[in-house]
Amino acid sequence: MIPLLINGEGITTGQVVANINPSNTADVIDEAAQADPHHVQMAIASARAAAPGWAMAGPVERHRVLAKTAQGLQERAAELGHLLAREEGKTRAEAIAEVERAAHIFAFFAGEALRLGGETGASMRPGVGVEVTPEPLGVVALITPWNYPMAIPAWKIAPALCYGNTVILKPAELVPSCAAALIDAINAAGAPAGVVNLVMGAGRVVGAALVDSPAVDGLSFTGSQATGQAIAVAAAKSLKRVQLEMGGSNPLVVLDDCDLELAVTCAVDGSFYSTGQRCTASRRLIVTDGVYSRFVERVAERVRALRVDDALKAGTEIGPVVSDEQLEQNLQALETARREGGSVRAGGERLTRATPGHYMQPALVTDTTPEMTLNREEVFGPIASVLRARDYDEALKLANDTPFGLTAGVCTQSLARSTHFKRHAQAGMVMVNLPTAGVDVHVPFGGRKASSYGPREQGEYARTFYTIMKTAYTRA
Ligand code: ADP
Repeated sequence: MIPLLINGEGITTGQVVANINPSNTADVIDEAAQADPHHVQMAIASARAAAPGWAMAGPVERHRVLAKTAQGLQERAAELGHLLAREEGKTRAEAIAEVERAAHIFAFFAGEALRLGGETGASMRPGVGVEVTPEPLGVVALITPWNYPMAIPAWKIAPALCYGNTVILKPAELVPSCAAALIDAINAAGAPAGVVNLVMGAGRVVGAALVDSPAVDGLSFTGSQATGQAIAVAAAKSLKRVQLEMGGSNPLVVLDDCDLELAVTCAVDGSFYSTGQRCTASRRLIVTDGVYSRFVERVAERVRALRVDDALKAGTEIGPVVSDEQLEQNLQALETARREGGSVRAGGERLTRATPGHYMQPALVTDTTPEMTLNREEVFGPIASVLRARDYDEALKLANDTPFGLTAGVCTQSLARSTHFKRHAQAGMVMVNLPTAGVDVHVPFGGRKASSYGPREQGEYARTFYTIMKTAYTRA
């Protein structure tokens, strides 16, 4: 059983949930202990008790824990990648890359821990000095989704620890094993008891108890827009600092002057790799008239050829959808798209494989219009819609015609157009001749409009959320 981890101790509970492999529903990976609200209060108390010690731990100690975690994850990348692929369903290669990414995130913040500084200056009053120092926010609760079960917890936990906070992680229900493995790696690296706590359970019970607690100082969430919005409202009651990363409906604009094969590769990778289960996935392919037919034909060919199978099988390009419920939602979204006038040009079928899993061929939907549900709401699966544009100006307008604003991409060989797009795309991250998904660990991650709320994650900008400034005046 995967126990809760509170104050350094594994805690089993009366209620457990089976952790099932989405590539093979006959494969039960483990059972996860479920917390009740009392366990959540214990975890908060544990993090509170550990907070003063960790806040005062010097940069060298924090660096050591973060650097050792990075090293531990790197050394175990193949083993943990196997677990990740088995639990979440992305391919082995993608899963190993995710573990390595988590290692890089810890390595980056190991460095940042040594760089922590403040500012000093003169006061406006003669004889008085001023110091501005970032201090830890305190106890932070981290609520994470299933699609990056190592990388997302890592990019919240690493800066939280780097800047002296203590943590309670509430992972998504579907991925307790990866969460537990990550927490184990941090503890094996020497984090003191209570600095990192793990509670599993339903969002509405365990997540909500963290959101409502006045003893939690900050809450960082990644998940759906509806949940994020509800969390922000609830967290305001206890005046908690909140950081939300939510959905996207990311456009990839393909212009007449693009390198066609590169654009096709960007679309196929961005839309369908990791089974399209990335908040940065390309959902809307916006293509100008001159290249439209050739582009759609090539992408359709590639979509039909994608090898969908068990995430752990050699040669698999696309793993299963994470759950049967999610697969049903994807198929329903295709049905709605058809009813509203779209055509499923390639893929979209439920598939049977040697093992019972949640398989579907990725889908390319053409003849779509901006008002269609598929282009307005986030579909979290391997489905991309195609919108046709007269020219660049119309394509840009369509790209921005969405409630979301996480990433936006353009494929063009024109410096003038790419420069214009970088300036005018209403998104937190813009990609030129690259898939909309795929980001670095050392620079800010986040979106605009309904995609994000609060300060940016990752890179040195993460400091804004995880610290609170102290301004001290001294008369000499
Ligand atoms: P997804 O559709 O990706 O599952 P959710 O927003 O439902 O997105 O879930 C993301 C995370 O938020 C999960 O860890 C989930 O348990 C948690 N969660 C869901 N509902 C709530 C809630 N009401 N309060 C706090 N956390 C929640």
